[in-house]
Amino acid sequence: MSAKPRFPLPLSSVTAKKPGTEFRPTVATPQTATRNAATTAAKSPWAPPPPAATPSRAHSYAQERAQPQPLAAPRQNPLVSDAVRRAMVQRVARQGVQDQVVLSALETVPRHMFMDEGLASQAYIDASLPIGHHQTISQPYIVARMIEVMRNGGQLQRVLEIGTGCGYQAAVLACVAQEVYSIERIKPLHELAKSNLRPLRVANLRLHYGDGMLGLPQAAPFDGIILAAAGLEVPQALLEQLAIGGRLVAPVGARTQHLELVTRTGKAEWVRQTLEDCHFVPLRPGIV
Ligand code: SAH
Repeated sequence: MSAKPRFPLPLSSVTAKKPGTEFRPTVATPQTATRNAATTAAKSPWAPPPPAATPSRAHSYAQERAQPQPLAAPRQNPLVSDAVRRAMVQRVARQGVQDQVVLSALETVPRHMFMDEGLASQAYIDASLPIGHHQTISQPYIVARMIEVMRNGGQLQRVLEIGTGCGYQAAVLACVAQEVYSIERIKPLHELAKSNLRPLRVANLRLHYGDGMLGLPQAAPFDGIILAAAGLEVPQALLEQLAIGGRLVAPVGARTQHLELVTRTGKAEWVRQTLEDCHFVPLRPGIV
């Protein structure tokens, strides 16, 4: 077995795998994302920002905080203000997420920096939204809920996420765990996540391009595993890569899905619990 990587690791340290059999999703845009984008645009409490005020992808959140606007300047862009993000977190808390560690992680990560500028005005509504390639950025509530369930109030050393997408949940995970690994099977999304995360300089997060259904045996075992895409069942490889005592949270199902919590209780023993209903994009094999 190869030596375990040491932290902090650069985001550029990517395991590039050879493209295998091409597998192209045939489903239409999943989830409620497209509908969310369309219907909430009208309801959004914030007017779209003037082009000059739109946050650039290269602009780091740290810079934003370090350089408050002078009083004479136009009001801070409400889309990126701490208050807007705090309001989102309060909504998530009202929906039942209680773990303060998770809530403060959610408050820390600038979600608008993971979205297309055209959708940035919706970054802090509680909805999944399109990120291209028929995939979505997960709803803040479900991101928080899954991490809360996985954490269970404990310390997390090493965590694996399947389905990096734009990198938002990976960034939230990096606030609550010592080491985070995240795998994405769609190369352009893997690249998108890298460029979204670069300005945030997340030192304890490593992104991989590959088929997450196979897990990441070279970094296993994991204290926690989160799947951001729904399969008909949890892949056996992931169950095997869970540490004893570790917790895996995954959406399971097709048209109707539920969150499943799997706790590894022994070498060959896993306990499953069914939690709430959910709606995720499908877990697919292979890389694209
Ligand atoms: N974690 C993201 C959610 C992304 S949507 C967020 O923060 O919002 C789910 C992602 O899972 C998609 O990008 C999809 O391409 C990816 N996915 C689906 N099957 C996969 C697999 N077998 N391995 C890795 N990623 C997969």
